[in-house]
Amino acid sequence: MALKHLIIGNGVAGITAIEGIRQLDPESSIALIAGETRHPYCRPMISHLLDGSVSPGQLLMRPRDFYDRMRVEVASGEWAKAIDVDNETVLTDKGNAFGFDRLLIASGADPRPIKADGLELANIFSMRTQEHVEAIVSALPEASRALVLGGGLVGFKAAYGLLRRGLHVTMLIRSRYPLSMQVDAFAGEMLLDELAGEGLEVRVDIEVTAFEGNGRVSEAHLSDGTSIPCDLAIIGKGVLPATSFVPLDRITVDLGIVVNEHMETSASGIYAAGDVAESIDRARKQRWVNALWPVAVEQGRIAGMNMAGRRVSYKGSLSRNVMRVFDTDILTAGIVNPPKEDEYHVISHCDRRRGTYRKLVFRDDVLVGVVMVNSVEQGGVLVALINDGTPISREKELLLHPSFNYAKLAR
Ligand SMILES: Cc1cc2nc3c(=O)[nH]c(=O)nc-3n(C[C@H](O)[C@H](O)[C@H](O)COP(=O)(O)OP(=O)(O)OC[C@H]3O[C@@H](n4cnc5c(N)ncnc54)[C@H](O)[C@@H]3O)c2cc1C
Repeated sequence: MALKHLIIGNGVAGITAIEGIRQLDPESSIALIAGETRHPYCRPMISHLLDGSVSPGQLLMRPRDFYDRMRVEVASGEWAKAIDVDNETVLTDKGNAFGFDRLLIASGADPRPIKADGLELANIFSMRTQEHVEAIVSALPEASRALVLGGGLVGFKAAYGLLRRGLHVTMLIRSRYPLSMQVDAFAGEMLLDELAGEGLEVRVDIEVTAFEGNGRVSEAHLSDGTSIPCDLAIIGKGVLPATSFVPLDRITVDLGIVVNEHMETSASGIYAAGDVAESIDRARKQRWVNALWPVAVEQGRIAGMNMAGRRVSYKGSLSRNVMRVFDTDILTAGIVNPPKEDEYHVISHCDRRRGTYRKLVFRDDVLVGVVMVNSVEQGGVLVALINDGTPISREKELLLHPSFNYAKLAR
């Protein structure tokens, strides 16, 4: 029977779902409600538009004829506003109704809003879409002092881009150290020392309470009672799953939309994937939203295959990041700040002279987290150990050594 597939969102989860469906089902119809009008692009690379190292054409995730080849009917620039679960219909802001047999919600995430006065002033931006970055770039000629709110992945990418464009940049972080979601306090403080030498001013334990300016931002008031001049600000305080149109009485939403191992929501025939979905985290062994590109790729593909009728199981997500922050290489995965419970056991090694740090977190005998700074050798093996849940019963300390021999250890 030819099915009617409907997808909300043309990010990477929606695109890989289309490929997953077509891989198994050349016949059924696929419709896509795509809020953004751009051809699908590689979202993590928008920061390179800001630093000026790529052009918009280089962001494309798939060739221009992708939708034609996949035979997808696209409603571009149209936003899903409501899902009628009983009548298997999605309503849009343009008043259209799209019917479905199988629905995928792949609406991604929105920037986490902040509370501060004066947010309506010009030159205060988020950095989630290509359009956001194009607006930032067009404001650069009139800007010389920038603020970046947030010390996460997006905050660093924003700060790097602005520095490359010659602005004076101050990063304001609410926690005690940067990348607090990705690294532990020790690595965070190592990073702080590094940043001091890179021309990036970082202030910790601080927030903006209000922006001020005459139409355009010119100053920010801070939680310690001081003020700082700025003519541009980028807010990078994390993201929240984009679920505003999801009926909470019919589809279970915690932080994200809760899915089972087939990426199906609590409503039969309705699936979710990517930054909007909450699935089992392999290290934590509990539901979690891991808003990461490779996670969205895999979830989208698996959701698509299940929509096409093949029962494929998703083994769970894992938070993992490999990044270069200025001259510091960082690899993190799994649980990096374990709760203070008996079942967790942490070992670490720091070489201050070389500026390296490796930390391993075990739950019972299983590796569940790593933090590696300027010593990322064999990081892939360690991530595979977390993914597989392989017990390591003896000589765990050997794994701290960059050239450990896993074959010997496993024997
Ligand atoms: C600046 C930046 C840097 C990043 N760097 C990294 C990185 O280095 N590594 C990494 O792993 N991840 C990174 N990420 C995160 C990564 O981009 C996301 O995890 C990934 O894009 C999620 O894909 P998705 O398809 O689930 O959601 P999205 O990419 O957000 O796509 C969702 C799409 O759905 C559309 N949509 C939303 N609501 C509706 C609606 N109601 N109706 C119709 N359409 C709708 C949106 O407009 C969007 O186009 C970065 C993100 C940003 C912003």
